Amino acid sequence: MIGAATLSGSVLAEAKLWGRLNRLTRIPGRGPLVVGALVLALATMALSLSPVDVRYAVAAISLLLLFGLAVGFFAVAASGFAIGNTMLIMGGIIVGAAGLMLTQIMCVAMNRTLLSVFVGGLGEVVSGEGDSYENVVGSDPEEAAMVLEAARNVVIVPGYGLAAARAQQSAADLADALAEQGVQVRFAIHPVAGRMPGHMNVVLAEADVPYDRLVEMERINSDFPNVDLVIVVGANDVVNPAANRASGSPIAGMPILEVENARRVMVVKRSLSPGYAGIKNELFERDHCTMLFGDAKQVLEDLVREFRAGVSTS
Ligand code: NDP
Repeated sequence: MIGAATLSGSVLAEAKLWGRLNRLTRIPGRGPLVVGALVLALATMALSLSPVDVRYAVAAISLLLLFGLAVGFFAVAASGFAIGNTMLIMGGIIVGAAGLMLTQIMCVAMNRTLLSVFVGGLGEVVSGEGDSYENVVGSDPEEAAMVLEAARNVVIVPGYGLAAARAQQSAADLADALAEQGVQVRFAIHPVAGRMPGHMNVVLAEADVPYDRLVEMERINSDFPNVDLVIVVGANDVVNPAANRASGSPIAGMPILEVENARRVMVVKRSLSPGYAGIKNELFERDHCTMLFGDAKQVLEDLVREFRAGVSTS
């Protein structure tokens, strides 16, 4: 059973990372299916009524349904006990406790209870790629650099796309170029930006971004009305206003970076595709928001070049 949960969780996590599961947030009738499969699995295992391979198959399916889609990896908390070896028990306890603590931190960051994650899936709304956008304004690095030249207070919001594009060094270069011109520049860190807790801190540390340029969500949210320009780099869900407004949304209630309160917003991403939660982002339609379409690394490099060229001629 532990093997089934671990394997199915890993396969599903991989599929999520490759973007294959964005639109599958819930299996129809999952609740009764889960309960039925679990009862059957436990009954057959307890009573040893079936041939051994049938029992393994039922256990695997039940765990796939029960935990796989909800969390991905849960079984590690019990693996040490299952093996019956003191060293492995200790290792299992440490890994399991750390996993549970991370899960709890993420639950708080997404405003969900641990129980709702285990039994609830991701909510009912499945939309995103098919959603149409109106009044989306595109821009290019040359035009964006002119906006940057006028800004005195800039916040960069890194997300999963920054890590995927390996654009951390380019983001750090942009921050340095701005700081050289006396601009106040900070990185706003959402607790679940990216694909694992602390993802953005690690990625930005790789590019030697000074720690005092990083600001946690709770501290920066009230300051957005004073910010001239927010540059969102490969982030989507963590800046999606639907979290505050749409009650049926998979991210409803999740605290977000309130970037729409800034004077101007620029979003760097390749297309209008949704993020991890698979939903539309109305931020992209706001009057004060412009899109810089392209790979994050390429766009940021172009932006730094245009900005440096602009300030050297002015
Ligand atoms: P999202 O997944 O919401 O959005 C990432 C965006 O990056 C996409 O919309 C994509 O748009 C863009 N992108 C991808 N590749 C590139 C690229 N090469 N260049 C430019 N843009 C790119 O990320 P967020 O960080 O905003 O949110 C994280 C999500 O992941 C949350 O929903 C969170 O709950 C979830 N999550 C977080 C975990 C954690 O521990 N941090 C763990 C598991 C899930 P496009 O394709 O158009 O480029």
